[in-house]
Amino acid sequence: MSIRLTNISHRIRSFHLLHESYCTALGQCSCVVLGGREPRRVAASLVLPANIPVSGLAEPVLELAKVQRAIRAGEILVERPPAPTIHRKQRTRRRVEPKKRESR
Ligand SMILES: [Zn+2]
Repeated sequence: MSIRLTNISHRIRSFHLLHESYCTALGQCSCVVLGGREPRRVAASLVLPANIPVSGLAEPVLELAKVQRAIRAGEILVERPPAPTIHRKQRTRRRVEPKKRESR
């Protein structure tokens, strides 16, 4: 499920999407891997501009300690937009009428 965060602290905030907490909870690595003799993993980051809702974020963002602190401090609002409802095609049930016996 995706969430929407709104930074209401009136100043831009950025958070590192730490591998240990974010990627682990996400179930996949979102880090940038820098090549070289010893490839290094660099955490991606999340930037929340002031007063602009950022939607489509993965739920594991809430696993980050700094995000949790900001939420507790009332600096970030968390919203879970309702998932779009899928309208299934309604089956039109036809009454199956018994076959009429042909009269001879
Ligand atoms: Zn990672």
